[in-house]
This record gives sequence, C-alpha cells and structure tokens, in this order.
Amino acid sequence: MLRLVHTLVFLLPALFLAHSIKASAPKAAVYTGCKVPNTVALTFDDGPYINQTDISKMLVEKGAKGTFFVNGYNYECIYGKKVAARLQATYNAGHQICSHTWDHPDLTDLNATEIQAESDKIDVALQKILGITTQFIRPPYGSYNNMVRQVLSNKTFIIWDFDSGDSVGASVQESENAYDQAIAGNVTSLLALNHETEKTTVSDVLPYAINKLQAAGYNLVTVAECLGMAPYTSVEPLGQRDATWFCPEERSGD
Ligand SMILES: [Zn+2]
Repeated sequence: MLRLVHTLVFLLPALFLAHSIKASAPKAAVYTGCKVPNTVALTFDDGPYINQTDISKMLVEKGAKGTFFVNGYNYECIYGKKVAARLQATYNAGHQICSHTWDHPDLTDLNATEIQAESDKIDVALQKILGITTQFIRPPYGSYNNMVRQVLSNKTFIIWDFDSGDSVGASVQESENAYDQAIAGNVTSLLALNHETEKTTVSDVLPYAINKLQAAGYNLVTVAECLGMAPYTSVEPLGQRDATWFCPEERSGD
C-alpha cells in the first residue's frame, strides 16, 4: 500500500502536467534539411568551446559561414570572460548562433516547466551576450516529442539530414567518406551535424569538407540562409558584462 501511495505521489504531478497541454495546442515547426538548392549548412554543436575561433576563422577564410548550436553550461560556462568574448567574435564574423538548451538534457525526460527553463536560460544568455533573440533551437540528441514541441511552440526546431558521426566515434576517414558520399550522391543540399568540441573535426574533417563541398559547387551558408528564414526575432547591440553574467553552477563568471 505504501508503495502504491508512493507511486501515485510521483505519478500524479506528471499526469497532471501531461494533460495540461491540449493535443491540439500549436507545435514548433521541425526542419530536418535545407530548402534552398545548392546550399550546405555546416552546424557545430555543444560549444562554446576552445575550438570555436579556429572554426570561425577557417570558414571566413573560405568565404563560408557556419551555424553554432550552443549550450549555456556544458563544456564551458557561456558567461565566462574568454568564452563570452569568443562567442561575440564568432557572431561578429557573420556566423549564426542558435540554442542547444542550457545544459544539454534529453528534453523528452523533462516536464513542461523544466523544458521551458532549458530554453529560456540559454535564450537569456544569448540576449545578454549577443543582443539577439534566437529563433532556432536544436534539441540535444535530436530528441523531442509532441510535448516538447508544444512547450516550445514559438521556436523553430532544427535537426539534420547528414551526420559526420564525430560525436559517436567516427574516425576522420569515416567522416570524410561520409561527406564524399553525399557529394557523389549529388544531394541538392545538406544540413550537416558536426561538433565544435571534437578536435579532429576542426583539424582534419572540416578543412577537407569545406574544400570538397566548395569544389562541388555548394554554397556554405547559415541554417537561416539555407532555409530562407530570419535567424533572430530581435537584434540589439552586443551586451555589456554585468553582475548577472554567471553560471549558477559555478557561482562565478570565470
Ligand atoms: Zn549536443
């Protein structure tokens, strides 16, 4: 009996929340690929991280742009002095910055309040640091369900149609082969998943992929450009550091 009471105590709030959103409630749009022909959107997840500047410079040198799906607190705290300055430089270089949630949970494991907080916390950080309100979010692991889409109905979900495999153990050769196969298949466009936190993605795979894709005639653009959509719902000047720039997990901005 005690066990049953226990179970009910834990289950009831979850049932209530699940039922508090109507099945007919609006859902976030989900894009798994680009829409503009002849484009490739190279995307980089899980930063901000130390490799970001190298990626940004490499793309700029090639006349290309990338899209960074960043967390607030994953590998690094987004409010750290060097981290925030690096992110501002990446943004100023013309790349697109999007949400990848605050600390990279599987959103389907969370309740509605927690899902909203995961989105809001990183959005606030991007407003403070970059002055932007980002429209696009990539749910960690590409994992979402109807409840996640309903809670975040005002966002646009970006998944991918090409995975370099860099976060799941692919070797440099395997990632390069994957790009070669896509090019050989004459795909109309690519929405390509990569991770800025993987060293060999930056040192080996990326220079290879950029050269091969450009030689094949693809334009390397942001996700917003490859979809023909606006990246941000508001754009203000870069923010100025203040006492609110810290990750609660660290209790400090450094
Ligand atoms: Zn991720």
